[in-house]
Amino acid sequence: MNYKVLYRKYRPSNFDQLVGQDSIVRILKNSIIEDKIAHAYIFTGPRGTGKTSTAKIFAKALNCPNAKDGIPCEECENCINFATSPDIIELDAASNNGVDNIRDIKDSVLIAPTSSKYKIYIIDEVHMLSNSAWNAFLKTLEEPPQNVIFILATTEIQKVPITVLSRCQRFDFNRIDRELIQKQIKDICKKEDIKYQDDAVTEISYLSDGCMRDALSILDQLSKVSDEINMDVLKQNYGTVTDEDIDAIYQNIVRNDLDNLILNINNIKESGVDIKIFINKMIENFINKAIDMKKKNMSSALFNHIKEIIKILNDLLMNINNTTNGYLMLQLNLLSFINADENKMSSREIDQIVSKEIVKNDIYSNTQDAYYRVCDEFINIRVNNAFTGATKELKNEFIENWNKFIEDIRNEDNKELLNIIKDSIPNVVSPTNVIFSTKREAIKTLGNSRLDIVENNYNNAFNTKYKMLFLTESEWKKQASSFDKNKKY
Ligand SMILES: [Zn+2]
Repeated sequence: MNYKVLYRKYRPSNFDQLVGQDSIVRILKNSIIEDKIAHAYIFTGPRGTGKTSTAKIFAKALNCPNAKDGIPCEECENCINFATSPDIIELDAASNNGVDNIRDIKDSVLIAPTSSKYKIYIIDEVHMLSNSAWNAFLKTLEEPPQNVIFILATTEIQKVPITVLSRCQRFDFNRIDRELIQKQIKDICKKEDIKYQDDAVTEISYLSDGCMRDALSILDQLSKVSDEINMDVLKQNYGTVTDEDIDAIYQNIVRNDLDNLILNINNIKESGVDIKIFINKMIENFINKAIDMKKKNMSSALFNHIKEIIKILNDLLMNINNTTNGYLMLQLNLLSFINADENKMSSREIDQIVSKEIVKNDIYSNTQDAYYRVCDEFINIRVNNAFTGATKELKNEFIENWNKFIEDIRNEDNKELLNIIKDSIPNVVSPTNVIFSTKREAIKTLGNSRLDIVENNYNNAFNTKYKMLFLTESEWKKQASSFDKNKKY
């Protein structure tokens, strides 16, 4: 596996080589200096942020008799033979997750360290341990022998039982700052005699998303296909978005150029750029523009406009993991800044451009014969329109009104309507559509046969134009997951 070469070669072996985890390093060093050693540590954080490297260096420092200021000397027997020391036991819980593996540990902790002060167990991906393994482990973790230290590492702290967490000193590793990743790449390029362009190095730091391992893997890959790390070679291999791309998108927005806005976003999508990286870069670029506007004393309307865009992009970025299609949501959010009147575009038409699924008419709106129209296609369209442009804010706002609505209907003593609405939960809310789920099949059937009544009553009360759909809980789950699959275009 050649591509790991650089990452392995530059794997930090002492604290000063660890990049981006200064505060953790400081605390660990101090604990050695002050001799306040815990029996168990847990390191958590995203992959490639130095958890295992830190664990190893810390272990080395703990067993170095000459450690100065918490830093291992690199000269003593223990430091030199660290990698093969029988007192350092490294375990990957992903492949050793059973109760038998833990029993082995329980037996071996009883044997004193052979040549060092501590016997140290570094258990990676510890969240992979099975339930029975955790149970077997707990006792040992609770009362380990004096000279035994556990360092657990995980990317998924939420899967680690609370009973375990409460016995460990916890350290949270952050994604590594882009500037630090850039510096590390440049340092390595110089040492390895690899030519590079600054903008390409910056781009790699974006692509790696705070993961040093990824950054060095990209560097490794590119250095194999080209004599120089530059934007061209990066673009060919990974897909990138440049400041020029983002400038063009900004121009499209302020000029109400809908066609080119969609075209430009699609081009970036098709080049394979990760949506989070794209949004992140837009936010940074727009913030720079906003600062520039203030400096140049430009119109406050323009400043407020770009501030709004940044805010929306930031919200989108925070929720991007929960959306079914990031690029779709990005398009929709940016389209809302295109002046609809000037383009003679209704919001519905914009929806149609964003989601090609929605070109079909919503058949129910033209007919009285509601219930028989609640066919699969009708459901698909309503589900689709509810997902397109759905946001948490819309949902929260809707739920607030919906609760008021239920109280009003209760006061009006409208029993049939109350029956339909009182236990129906709004699941997803777009600017045009709402989907409810109910526990009972009968309520769903009744609700859909009286859609016009529910919609009219609600819409009149809150001066809105929502289209609604009732599903049972299991239908809702099915629709939500099939929507996920189908929307990958
Ligand atoms: Zn040493």
